[in-house]
Amino acid sequence: IAKQSGKNQSRMFDSEVYAIRQERIKLAADLRQAINQEAFELFYMPIFASDTLKITAVEALIRCNYAPIKHIGPEIFIPVAEEYDLIQSIDLWVIETIFKQLQSNRQLNQFSNLKFSINISAKELYNVNFPNILAEWIVRYDVDPTMVELEITETCLVEVGDSVINNINRLKTLGFSIALDDFGTGYMAFNQLNLFPVDTIKIDKSFVTSFDPAKQHRSVAIEAVLLLAESFNLRTVAEGVETQEQYLYLKKQKCQFFQGYFKSPPLDWQTLCQRWDQLEGACPPENRVLGSPV
Ligand code: C2E
Ligand code: MG
Ligand code: MG
Ligand code: MG
Repeated sequence: IAKQSGKNQSRMFDSEVYAIRQERIKLAADLRQAINQEAFELFYMPIFASDTLKITAVEALIRCNYAPIKHIGPEIFIPVAEEYDLIQSIDLWVIETIFKQLQSNRQLNQFSNLKFSINISAKELYNVNFPNILAEWIVRYDVDPTMVELEITETCLVEVGDSVINNINRLKTLGFSIALDDFGTGYMAFNQLNLFPVDTIKIDKSFVTSFDPAKQHRSVAIEAVLLLAESFNLRTVAEGVETQEQYLYLKKQKCQFFQGYFKSPPLDWQTLCQRWDQLEGACPPENRVLGSPV
């Protein structure tokens, strides 16, 4: 009997795996359509300085507008895009969209001190041509790369060999800064950080949202990452700050920047412009761009 039910169980397991596989294949096909139609949109999540509460940067977050998969978020479709070799088209679309945006911001003298953070798949770091494309676009769109930070998620870095380090160094030589996204969730050992020439560490939101200062005095994980960042002289950004208490704790621990629902969700372009005008008054009315980024 045990043997029989074991067999049934494994059959059930196989069919579940099969169903999941089919779903991913379908999603990949839909993503291909979305890429052809450029059916994507960017939202912008403000990043605040902990001491002044001023917006210093915005992180571009992609959303898919292609009707059949409109309800699916990047947490799901980006890994599928990575698996089916669609990620480079998506990453390049995001980068070119932001570069066009920066070009028009500059012409309008808008957001002049605002940094843009762009998520890229670690897969781009294995492609020697990637820095060449960005170098070409810096010239084409007249972009100041020091206003752009590229965020890389370490979970996707299977091995950090010389070619990856070379690519990062080429991007840094072009003027981009580099952030390690979701730090603490990947494989990277603390002692490997010195091999990896990054400027910023982003503390993964799971460490922050799960931390309730009313229940615990401190988060050893958060403090360990902050200490590490300090010893490597890296900037620190906390993700997923949802409460005032979390914010105050992070500020006290000298985490320099943060993002999260506590201060702002991701905003569409129009709302970002309005919010910016209210907060900073940095944009003269005649120069307000209310519309889509491209
Ligand atoms: P990420 O780069 O770590 O982005 C942060 C994610 O956490 C975003 O989810 C953001 O909406 C969410 N978040 C930020 N603050 C809070 C908070 O206080 N509470 C909660 N519950 N969530 C918060 P999103 O937009 O769904 O993006 C998920 C992931 O998809 C991103 O994680 C990033 O890894 C990837 N992604 C998003 N856009 C792009 C893109 O343009 N290119 C690539 N390659 N990946 C992207
Ligand atoms: Mg990110
Ligand atoms: Mg993150
Ligand atoms: Mg993430």
